[in-house]
Amino acid sequence: MSEPTPSRPGALVISLDFELHWGMRDHMDRSADSYADLAGSRQVTLDLAERFARRSIRATWATVGFLFASTRDELEVHRPGRRPAYLRPEFDPYVEPVGTDEVEDPQHLAGSLVDALAAVPGQEIASHTFSHFYCLEDGQTESDLQADLAAAQSIAGLHGLTLTSLVLPRNQWNPRYAHAVRASGFNCFRGPQPSASHRARSADEQSLAVRAARLVDTYTGVAPPPTFAWSDRLRPDGLCDVPASAFLRPYTPSRRRLDGLKRRRLVSGMRDAARRGRIFHLWWHPHNFARFPAENFAFLDTLFDEFDELASTYAMTSLSMRDVADAVTADQGPSMPSRSDTTP
Ligand SMILES: [Zn+2]
Repeated sequence: MSEPTPSRPGALVISLDFELHWGMRDHMDRSADSYADLAGSRQVTLDLAERFARRSIRATWATVGFLFASTRDELEVHRPGRRPAYLRPEFDPYVEPVGTDEVEDPQHLAGSLVDALAAVPGQEIASHTFSHFYCLEDGQTESDLQADLAAAQSIAGLHGLTLTSLVLPRNQWNPRYAHAVRASGFNCFRGPQPSASHRARSADEQSLAVRAARLVDTYTGVAPPPTFAWSDRLRPDGLCDVPASAFLRPYTPSRRRLDGLKRRRLVSGMRDAARRGRIFHLWWHPHNFARFPAENFAFLDTLFDEFDELASTYAMTSLSMRDVADAVTADQGPSMPSRSDTTP
């Protein structure tokens, strides 16, 4: 049985969770080597955006609101009056000491980087909430989230930006909060990857078995990453859900011999999206590239080489999350070339 003709070409969507220390402060000590790496990851972040532009790749930078500030004073002005009261105190970001400016505290302030990223062609600045907010942890409420997202919009305004795409920290999408998300100016979010080991969970529900299952996912071709139909993206509440297909696991010397498998699995997802006119959504953190930048960029380039092939064969496109939301909302995405033009 042949599949219906897709209405749009396949798309490669890339989103980056840009968070520096805010995404890890509950489990990363400032004396750790990886904390020092975060300062180095600032340059890698700019290099990544530059590489995207050079390869004509559009991407979404889901940025923690704190990072839009260049100084502690700027941050103070935008802190929400209402804050989450997590039962687990390690989740409270408002106790974190912050230095006076980006030079003194490159792990917590990054206003200049936000401006630099926003100036790179094809890059969307989006939100990773103001405070790296955990929507499935005990002690927070929908009103807390709404106050948090209002702060995110307010500090983005400092840079002349309006945020329309949202990535929830730790992918803790809480369906009960959809209204708060929509009411805060967002029309797009990255839903959790739809497999048992990736469903949205609180920290308490995470287990070693779940983590092991994700690792096996990365390196085996047994379960190719999911791709998503255009027709199912727009929800009745007006939010566009662009779920994750795969996490781009960073280069690790001890797993170097498995890089071929890792690549084949990601490529199989991209090819599936290209051939069937679906969406393949890859995500990672810019700091994941900090430890082995040369190896990570080389790997990424091989994925972009594959994308270029798929773009010329199947008219696959590179889109940000906002591009996807715009396309499904206006129902005027790029049209699919006739099948006779796309014989592989
Ligand atoms: Zn995060």
